[in-house]
Amino acid sequence: RTELWNLYKNKPTYTKDLHKIDLGANIGAPNDVSNALLEGAEGVGLYRTEFLYMQSLSMPKEEEQYLVYKDVLSKMKDQKVVIRTLDVGGDKNLLYLPVKDELNPFLGYRALRLSLAQKDVFKVQLRALLKASPYGNLHIMFPMVSTLDELREAKALLKECEEELRVENIKVASYKIGIMIEVPAAALFAKTFAKEVDFFSIGTNDLIQYLFAADRMNQNVSYLYQPYHPVVLNTIKNIIEAAHSENIWVGVCGEMGGDPKSALLLAGLGIDELSMNAHSILEIRYLLNQFTIDELKTFSNKTLELETNDEVYHYIKQFIKGI
Ligand code: PEP
Ligand code: MG
Repeated sequence: RTELWNLYKNKPTYTKDLHKIDLGANIGAPNDVSNALLEGAEGVGLYRTEFLYMQSLSMPKEEEQYLVYKDVLSKMKDQKVVIRTLDVGGDKNLLYLPVKDELNPFLGYRALRLSLAQKDVFKVQLRALLKASPYGNLHIMFPMVSTLDELREAKALLKECEEELRVENIKVASYKIGIMIEVPAAALFAKTFAKEVDFFSIGTNDLIQYLFAADRMNQNVSYLYQPYHPVVLNTIKNIIEAAHSENIWVGVCGEMGGDPKSALLLAGLGIDELSMNAHSILEIRYLLNQFTIDELKTFSNKTLELETNDEVYHYIKQFIKGI
């Protein structure tokens, strides 16, 4: 860490010519909020609620979840808080919600698929989120959306919960709905999805594994996990254009968001928000401030035409040399 970065502590994130990019924090619990604020987060870009479930020996009740969400929202005041609904399955399992062994867990019963199949479980979380909505700037996000039908079913369920709460005389304030773009089908169909949500957050960890059909946990195929590959960058570029054509914002909350090299690339591709481990925020804020948005655009557009991960990687290294 350098003294230089500390100068960026309580400042918003801008490129040299004042193009705004929001830097959010990825968190796993309310306890992470104070550190995120200390590091200068401009919101929570991803709250992985599965940790709340994983720490518990039984299904967390509505009241318990409500208090946790309320806590995070109130601590963040009017800053954006993106709360992702339960994303288990794949490599994460709950003892009290067993998933039968699967041949391909990452292609199987996980995330929103599981929530939609167990609506009683899902509704507890949705009701808790809606009840917490008056306490801050709530953004609800669904993980692993593959089809419009899934999104519509999730939104209908949210409406159903809202109606229940209205009948019970429980206040629900306005909130935003978004999806993770982390399945290639959703990436390719982003323009259509963009008409039905308020925001996108690109989950590059999963998106990369699915683009290359290479398990992100499998060492034998880790050479195929290529974040700088032009296929990844072109896919991201298309998602960003789709979002902007429908006037919604788009962020990245996978590891790429907090990696200095890819953060510059993503900024040049037009990303509106990057969400990351809080300790990376100051460095990325400093870096983004060293370039104008046009410099970043020219640089990023060039990478779209390169052919391999290594070519892009070396091109970026060259670009940031001396910074
Ligand atoms: C992602 O897939 O990039 C992401 C942010 O979600 P997770 O790492 O929790 O799957
Ligand atoms: Mg993911």
